[in-house]
Amino acid sequence: MALQRHRSSWSDDDLEEFRELARTFCQKELTPNQERWIENKQVDRELWTKAGEVGLLALSVPEEYGGGGGTFAHETVLLEEQARSGDGAWGVAVHSGIVAHYLLAYAAEERKREWLPKLASGEYVGAIAMTEPGTGSDLQSIRTRAVRDGDSYVVNGAKTFITNGAQADLVVVAVKTDPDAGAQGVSLLVVETDTPGFRRGRVLDKVGLKGQDTAELFFDDVRVPAANLLGEQEGLGFVQLMQQLPQERLLIAVTAVAGMEAAIDQTIAYTKDRTAFGRPIFTFQNTKFTLAQAATEAAVARAFLDQCVERHLRGELDVQGAAMVKLWTTDRVNKVIDDCLQLFGGYGYMTEYPIARAWADVRIARIFGGTNEIMKEIISRTL
Ligand SMILES: Cc1cc2nc3c(=O)[nH]c(=O)nc-3n(C[C@H](O)[C@H](O)[C@H](O)COP(=O)(O)OP(=O)(O)OC[C@H]3O[C@@H](n4cnc5c(N)ncnc54)[C@H](O)[C@@H]3O)c2cc1C
Repeated sequence: MALQRHRSSWSDDDLEEFRELARTFCQKELTPNQERWIENKQVDRELWTKAGEVGLLALSVPEEYGGGGGTFAHETVLLEEQARSGDGAWGVAVHSGIVAHYLLAYAAEERKREWLPKLASGEYVGAIAMTEPGTGSDLQSIRTRAVRDGDSYVVNGAKTFITNGAQADLVVVAVKTDPDAGAQGVSLLVVETDTPGFRRGRVLDKVGLKGQDTAELFFDDVRVPAANLLGEQEGLGFVQLMQQLPQERLLIAVTAVAGMEAAIDQTIAYTKDRTAFGRPIFTFQNTKFTLAQAATEAAVARAFLDQCVERHLRGELDVQGAAMVKLWTTDRVNKVIDDCLQLFGGYGYMTEYPIARAWADVRIARIFGGTNEIMKEIISRTL
């Protein structure tokens, strides 16, 4: 027995067919490799090209740029299957769901034609670097500086906690082009990582998502063509971030809800199998009530998520809605998975059990993509 599922309102036969492809790939290429990736603190570089070959990268980028020609619904299906496969390593949401969309929306035409096919094939891995050692939530206070010099920008600064940082070939970097202009002084600049002066620091040790590459990046007099600026002019970075962050937050919510559902499935199976006092653990009232509560939480989260995905597909998901769905689903997934883990007893604390990894992996969801306190700030501004 498992959690009862209904087809999401935004799905259709084609998407469910695509789900089979995504599921097969995730089960074959992600699930069996978790231990090695945890040890290496990153996925195999070839994973990206394998995914590119079967058409799983840049799913919602138009075909004319080498992408899959799909919609956000395709990205959603892939992330759901990734979460269900128990993978906490592959930074595909950042690569396809975030980086490709900054390029698609703001890069100059010839740059799009150069970069997007490489992201779609896996020849390039993408990252986005906003956070710095001194600032995360307060993005206006970033100190990485880009100074215009002829046809180039010269970039100096440091970034940290960057997903895909160790493997990235292309990084969208938030920089200050005018340090005196506050938010209007922020720009986004694309840095290719073979540029002299670019350097990677440590791949960081984390509480969870241990197989995911999260790295420090350094920029010492990195000379970038001025044409790599995203947008027509300097100073548009903050607006671009505000336009793109709703999709990033929705992607986090997708993973949270699929993770919740997967954890409940695992816990139902485990508690029906494991016995204590001569009966399956599932039959204790506490177990049934805990799982009934969890299933209800998941159903409510799923309904809200599906509504937000539909709104996003219509181009109507606003900043407030994205903040709400990120806040709610990431808060609930932490509670649900913690309750599920409890029902595994000591085995729930053993990292060889997927529920233990899921518990550690989901903790970050309340922090990245903007902390949940910042989500409340954003929501409260609209009240
Ligand atoms: C695994 C991982 C992956 C990440 N991936 C990326 C990535 O790919 N690219 C990237 O740019 N960043 C990435 N990040 C960074 C992440 O987005 C930041 O950690 C996050 O935005 C918080 O910033 P901070 O760590 O500087 O915390 P701070 O901003 O220092 O916040 C510390 C605490 O203060 C609270 N706080 C701050 N301001 C307010 C306020 N106004 N009101 C109330 N409370 C407040 C916060 O909510 C938090 O609880 C990643 C982080 C991790 C751990």
